Amino acid sequence: MPSLTDYDPCQLRSELVAGGHNPTHAARILREYYRQNGRLDLVSIPVTRELRQHLQIHLLSRRSKILLKSAAMDGTLKLLVGFDDGAAVESVLMPSFRAGIAAGCVSSQVGCPMGCDFCASTRRGLERNLDPGEIVEQFLHLKEHADAMGRKLQTLVFMGMGEPLLNFEAVVTAIRRIADPNLGGLGWRQVTVSTVGIVPEIDRLAAENLNIHLALSLHAPDDATRSRLVPANRRYPVSEIMAAARRFETTTGRTPNIEYCIIRDVNDSPEQAEMLAGLMKDFRAHVNIIPCNPIGAGVSGTVYSAPLRERILEFLDILRSRGVVAHIRETRGDDINAACGQLREMANDNYVPLGS
Ligand code: SAH
Repeated sequence: MPSLTDYDPCQLRSELVAGGHNPTHAARILREYYRQNGRLDLVSIPVTRELRQHLQIHLLSRRSKILLKSAAMDGTLKLLVGFDDGAAVESVLMPSFRAGIAAGCVSSQVGCPMGCDFCASTRRGLERNLDPGEIVEQFLHLKEHADAMGRKLQTLVFMGMGEPLLNFEAVVTAIRRIADPNLGGLGWRQVTVSTVGIVPEIDRLAAENLNIHLALSLHAPDDATRSRLVPANRRYPVSEIMAAARRFETTTGRTPNIEYCIIRDVNDSPEQAEMLAGLMKDFRAHVNIIPCNPIGAGVSGTVYSAPLRERILEFLDILRSRGVVAHIRETRGDDINAACGQLREMANDNYVPLGS
């Protein structure tokens, strides 16, 4: 059954006309629906009884339920969002250190086909793509929970399960609804798409000119290490994804972020820091160093963990001494298994249903 998350105003107008209803209120219905986080109170809109009934029967049911909620000591809230066919994805709400705001993280696919060795989302492979409405539903759940915390959902990253650029159309359609001032109202610049580095799709995203941010999951400056961690590197090696990141900047005027999941004795050496600095030459992109969040054995059976603090600081120092803008991005929600894909695995098939 569809819900209002499946429509933009133009589509809703056509749907209303097809059902013999006056389409005048389509835009307003959607605006109110998003404002009320997907819980439309029809009393506030002057619609006919027939249209009210039509909306109630056909479009006002949610397509997703929160199956599990898990709150960490640091305030991070992880939601397991389930759909009618039994598929489940993770969405995360991270209260900012600044009062009154929070960041959200959504999934783009159920599972993930990329096979990155340190990531839990991919251990069971790809189940299916999400459709735009299913991505928007995650946004609305996060917005509702942020409101309940007295915070504004300020930013949204596609860093949950899946590779967003392999579900390109659904992700772009969802972003159009989420960012639209008359729908989700988040704003284009508040959205970040994170990719493992699918070169043609990075160029395609740049051509869409959406004014959104791009994050590139680099994780290693050399092809040997990167291919081990990120199998997609065999198709799109470091030099090609870095060139694509630079083209993204030239085309859109928006500088990508480089994500570097730092792993003990794998990609944390001073030599690799030097190599990374070399790759960043004349490129203003920020490097986010993310200490690896251990997930146990990865796809290959290898177990990865974060380096000691001193080692991470040494890596950071080398980058900075070479003029690279770099930060350590503290992992959030460690105590609730907040690394990608861990909640779903933990929930297994025995989750505690919480209703919606
Ligand atoms: N497929 C996309 C988006 C999803 S992963 C991408 O690769 O960018 C989002 C981010 O979380 C990526 O940078 C990914 O490498 C990182 N990540 C996955 N597992 C992690 C772990 N165990 N510890 C730290 N970061 C992890």
